Amino acid sequence: NTSVDNYFVDDNVIRGRLPARSKFSHKGTFGHVLLLAGSRGKIGASVLAARACLRGGVGLLTVRIPAVGYHIMQTSAPEAMTLADPATDFVTELPDLKPYAAIGIGPGLGQEHATCEVLRQLLRKANVPLVLDADALNLLGANPGLLPLLPRESLLTPHPKEFERLVGKPARDDYHRLEQLRTFAREYKCYCVLKGAYTTLAAPDGTLYFNSTGNPGMATGGSGDVLTGLLLALRADKRLSPLDAALLGLYAHGRAGDRAAQQTGEAGLVAGDLVRFIGPVLQELT
Ligand code: AMP
Ligand code: MG
Repeated sequence: NTSVDNYFVDDNVIRGRLPARSKFSHKGTFGHVLLLAGSRGKIGASVLAARACLRGGVGLLTVRIPAVGYHIMQTSAPEAMTLADPATDFVTELPDLKPYAAIGIGPGLGQEHATCEVLRQLLRKANVPLVLDADALNLLGANPGLLPLLPRESLLTPHPKEFERLVGKPARDDYHRLEQLRTFAREYKCYCVLKGAYTTLAAPDGTLYFNSTGNPGMATGGSGDVLTGLLLALRADKRLSPLDAALLGLYAHGRAGDRAAQQTGEAGLVAGDLVRFIGPVLQELT
């Protein structure tokens, strides 16, 4: 099939996709999500993702982090429940998945063998939407046997380097990379994001969506972790289709970056600034 659909995602495409909250909403309406993230020295990634998830409107959030992150998480994101892993420095055990409406994995996770086995079990057992980022993608790339386990409609958020590891071969140029993205999403029936300026989403049918928001100020450590948390919250919201959750999340994340850059300048922007604007931006888009 050579017919190709590409879309440019601007305000008109996004506005109205996020429904207002019903008066009679309760925590359960917006879902309880699980985030597996963090390792020694990278607990900050899990904190940024957790905070973004909370601002993204999730009902309840539980975070699985290594024990070294317990106090850090409880102090910096008191709204999140913390399930500390028995291991000190990295995640080694998958918790019971029953309570969760969506599961995210990756920010700051590290690539230890035991963590890879946690990912393998998650891919085998999960029957709710998954969001995979960062080291979860690096583990997928380094262990090709995992890719066929990827549940349909999973959402993957690689930057170009992670994407290259995922597909196992470098792109000849930017156009080739977009074709690789389209092919990957079709093959694994997933939603795959290629992050950067004009972040691109490929849907399982091979359609490409180019995001219009964001700025170079977002090229700073932790920006992607914020995106993961936000997308996780939106994937848990049963009122949104997988496509709408992904498009809305990418657009809102970039717009939060644009609002943050107005205040701090591009150079001064840090990832935590993005989190502060998620709420106001989602409100504007409702
Ligand atoms: P990561 O590399 O995982 O931290 O992700 C970086 C995040 O910042 C992604 O959401 C990118 O889309 C965004 N980002 C980085 N550089 C730019 C840029 N030049 N323009 C717009 N967004 C960007
Ligand atoms: Mg990242």
